Amino acid sequence: MESYDVIVIGAGPAGLLAAGRAAEKGCRVLVLEKMRQEGRKLLITGKGRCNITNAAPIGEFITHVFPDGRFLRNAFSRFFSKDIIALLERYGVEVALERGGRYFPASDQASDILKALLAWVHENRVEIRTGHQAEKLLIESDSVVGVQANGIPYYAPQVILATGGKSYPATGSNGEGYELARKAGHSIETPFPALVPLETEGSVAQKLQGLNLRNVVAAIWVNDKKIAEEMGEMIFTHFGLSGPIILTLSRIAAQELKKQNKVEISIDLKPALDDSKLDARLIRDLNEHGKKKLANIFRFWLPASMIPVFLEILKTDPEKDCHQVSAQERKQIRNLMKNLRFKVSHNRSFKEAIITAGGVKTNEISPKTMESRLVKGLFFAGEMIDLDAETGGYNLQIAYSTGWLAGNSCEKTGSV
Ligand SMILES: Cc1cc2nc3c(=O)[nH]c(=O)nc-3n(C[C@H](O)[C@H](O)[C@H](O)COP(=O)(O)OP(=O)(O)OC[C@H]3O[C@@H](n4cnc5c(N)ncnc54)[C@H](O)[C@@H]3O)c2cc1C
Repeated sequence: MESYDVIVIGAGPAGLLAAGRAAEKGCRVLVLEKMRQEGRKLLITGKGRCNITNAAPIGEFITHVFPDGRFLRNAFSRFFSKDIIALLERYGVEVALERGGRYFPASDQASDILKALLAWVHENRVEIRTGHQAEKLLIESDSVVGVQANGIPYYAPQVILATGGKSYPATGSNGEGYELARKAGHSIETPFPALVPLETEGSVAQKLQGLNLRNVVAAIWVNDKKIAEEMGEMIFTHFGLSGPIILTLSRIAAQELKKQNKVEISIDLKPALDDSKLDARLIRDLNEHGKKKLANIFRFWLPASMIPVFLEILKTDPEKDCHQVSAQERKQIRNLMKNLRFKVSHNRSFKEAIITAGGVKTNEISPKTMESRLVKGLFFAGEMIDLDAETGGYNLQIAYSTGWLAGNSCEKTGSV
């Protein structure tokens, strides 16, 4: 019979932090990871560069977390961005601070983060068994006693569930952890894809595919009411819209589409100019170049690949001289520049979602320890909890902080 003080299920960032911290406290720790390799998802974070964490202070940090970041106050106050950076630096990782408070490894290699975390857990004598899929939590009289993996029982009075969400299932996190939690009696807020690209109706996005826009404002409209807006970068794709500001708005889009509401995204290509300033600019340019063809003047206003698409939408003769453009046509042009609208038909699936929203409900977990309020000795960490955040390194910090706190809440039992 194999027994441990702590069994951690999942060797992602949350599981590794939990295992390392419990082992630092003297616990005998086993990590069960179903994939052949630890941290598969960590390796693809930040397009392989890994946005490790964010420099925002706790008060601001939690405003980037949904549905309610206050649950994390205690976890963050115990182990936060400076702590993960200090830990990584101890294992040879140099970090670099980039725009928006984002920390990356100076090497630009996500693999360096995984290597450092593995060096730490190995130094603390954590045992990791890859290719071991947890199938069942062993629970007796409302207390956890172990885990069954690959048909074999492993015993421990403390089990930390850190199996991630449902997104990018090829990395190992395919949602089966939610079933383990559900069978233990926990309620699961229905998971849905967040930080996910959006599919749009019509062919405009498709015609613009590959075009990347910076310093634009995208707004999300639900049943014709503006709900939120984001300024920054986005990209058109063969199916619709993607890029940082679209991903940020996608959480609202996914929720509202689920409720069958009408969802639209408008793009303001000229956010620095209000309507009257933009109009003045158009009048000035049209007057200055009165003898030029309308199609030619557009290059002062728009990226080249947008021009034919704009002209097609406007249904205006591109050969027309600029001085012939009417006030009504100018208004149309202005409207397209300030309010280029797309009706959203779907969000893309979990396969392309950076994060899973929903998960184990936080009111059934103690924020002081990450222990289940229903099953003694069962702890939760990472993305499987009903918490998700914007891009910017916030999601990984949630995994480290909840993982560390769960590990820190475990005790050496003396029975092994
Ligand atoms: C493309 C992409 C880019 C991202 N970039 C960033 C970024 O730059 N910065 C950032 O902050 N966040 C980023 N994220 C989000 C971040 O990766 C996650 O928030 C984080 O990995 C969650 O950690 P976790 O340990 O909870 O889950 P995971 O990393 O998903 O790990 C869970 C582990 O549990 C294992 N597992 C699942 N079920 C079982 C089972 N039954 N038995 C045994 N093992 C099991 C899985 O195989 C997996 O290894 C990105 C995500 C994606 C998909």
